[in-house]
Amino acid sequence: MDSEPTLRLRIDESALAANWRLLDRMSGTAAAGAAVKADCYGLGASRCVPVLRDAGARDYFVAHWSEVPDVAAHVAPGSISVLHGPLTAGDAAFARASGVRPVLNSLPQVRRWLESGGGPCDVMIDTGMSRLGLSPDELGDESLSRLDVELLMSHLASADEDSPLNARQLALFRDAIQRLGARRHSLANSAGIALGPDYSFDVTRPGLALYGGVPRGEFDGLIRQVGFPQAAVIMLRRIRAGDTVGYNATFTAQRDIPAAVVSLGYADGFLRCRGTDAALQFGEKRLPLLGKISMDMVVVDCSEAPDLREGDWVDIPQHLPDAAAKSGLTQYEILTVTGQRFR
Ligand SMILES: *Cc1c(COP(=O)(O)O)cnc(C)c1O
Repeated sequence: MDSEPTLRLRIDESALAANWRLLDRMSGTAAAGAAVKADCYGLGASRCVPVLRDAGARDYFVAHWSEVPDVAAHVAPGSISVLHGPLTAGDAAFARASGVRPVLNSLPQVRRWLESGGGPCDVMIDTGMSRLGLSPDELGDESLSRLDVELLMSHLASADEDSPLNARQLALFRDAIQRLGARRHSLANSAGIALGPDYSFDVTRPGLALYGGVPRGEFDGLIRQVGFPQAAVIMLRRIRAGDTVGYNATFTAQRDIPAAVVSLGYADGFLRCRGTDAALQFGEKRLPLLGKISMDMVVVDCSEAPDLREGDWVDIPQHLPDAAAKSGLTQYEILTVTGQRFR
């Protein structure tokens, strides 16, 4: 017999599929792939990858080698790229054995891949982020001519802004394409897709917008919320005028308040910065937070919901642009801090 969970996350599969199709259409002649790293940004690879596959995605991007099995369970290994690249000979051997493509980010990674026997791989060029990727001045290295490059890519630093850096990165990427042969090319993340056809090349790599994020105004009203988290009420209590609530007694009741203790805390990714003027929802009813968020619990005012009972499920607001604006977190953070206790 299983015990009942007190946190659950509903995935709107049709919204996820619709977001992928929208981003694929906006990619023009390019095909949209899918960034599925970090367990599909916290929404769950086992749930999301089959939906993206059935919608039509053919290129999947994870960050870590450890993320490969959860994705490879649903798609052909040859459609998976590992962004961090091979750090060890073991990584290279794993890629060769499984058919997953490493993204080569540095000359040492290039040599490691060639020494392990080589084979189809991807290459990342750094065009202005100073993060992963070969610098343009390394592209003349002799070792690169021995690679079998499937996807040549770079990553935009400021695609969510109208920054002159976008055009600079685009120009550097075009130079790199002239100098290094590859079957396909890829530059745009979610926000980059909105920068127009010049940025699309053959494959785009949306992540955030697939999962309900809105990185640029062009997506307003088009991207749908995908993840709908809920938490259960553990107990109801009556707080008396003058009582304080929670750690450090930061809230003092000015009147008697019917309250509920909800199974949701910062260990579940509901960080304290989300507590300012925040409320959970019971249907249309607002349940304002009282006092600080604890590791495993919050206390809410349920004056507006007299019918609320122990064991009822309440909604955690997860409209990403709104939740980000209210908390000061990024939309990426709100998604990816989702804890392990949700079913
Ligand atoms: C995470 C990542 C993406 C997806 O970016 P979003 O902004 O989430 O769309 C694309 N490409 C690379 C290299 C990434 O690391």
